[in-house]
Amino acid sequence: MTGTMTPESVEAIFAQLAATNPAPETELVHRDPFTLLVAVVLSAQSTDVGVNKATKGLFAEAPDARAMAGMSEEAVGRHIRTLGLWRNKAKNVVALAKLLVERHGGQVPHDRAALEALPGVGRKTANVVLNVAFGEGTIAVDTHIFRVANRTGLAPGKTVEKVEEGLLEVVPDKYRQGAHHWLILHGRYVCKARRPECWRCVIAAWCQFPDKQLYSKRPIGPDGVKSPEESRRSA
Ligand code: SF4
Repeated sequence: MTGTMTPESVEAIFAQLAATNPAPETELVHRDPFTLLVAVVLSAQSTDVGVNKATKGLFAEAPDARAMAGMSEEAVGRHIRTLGLWRNKAKNVVALAKLLVERHGGQVPHDRAALEALPGVGRKTANVVLNVAFGEGTIAVDTHIFRVANRTGLAPGKTVEKVEEGLLEVVPDKYRQGAHHWLILHGRYVCKARRPECWRCVIAAWCQFPDKQLYSKRPIGPDGVKSPEESRRSA
């Protein structure tokens, strides 16, 4: 086993995440494998919200690979210039659309090697497409998953490759496809980088992070509890 967590704890964590969100989905707006692929390529160093704003107009103009392959980089760039690295992304999106048309009849291939041969598509993007578009149990380790896997002790590792390998080893098969989404959403909204909201974390009982933030410093609300210090102040 990669980490020090017992299989029982791993099972409990994913049972809990599954109970909280039984049908997890990507937050990238897409209508088919092609629009998903483009959205994921555009999402590098950008937020899903930002990508969704950019793809609204882009997908209206080019809803499939053939239409996108017919666009100039400048035309694609006009839709996506609010995103980081937009010039490079525009170039990649047009080039990958052309390759899809030339090699795959305009369809997104259900094949890791063929996906990774497309411009701008690396292992992480291929993992997302294989999971979301084709229902495979892949886990794309982004910054959120990397943090959650290390903090909790689920799959500690110094590199994304190590963490992916560790997660694939410990996550039970029945949770594999959902694990990708649960861990991203957990890292994005609860186990945040600067201040994890452990006081409202549904997996805190099994998490091995030594610096859990068990008290909210925010005003008490439906998802917060007062720290002892705050209780003393308001007494
Ligand atoms: S208890 Fe805290 S550190 Fe552990 S997973 Fe939950 S939010 Fe993250």
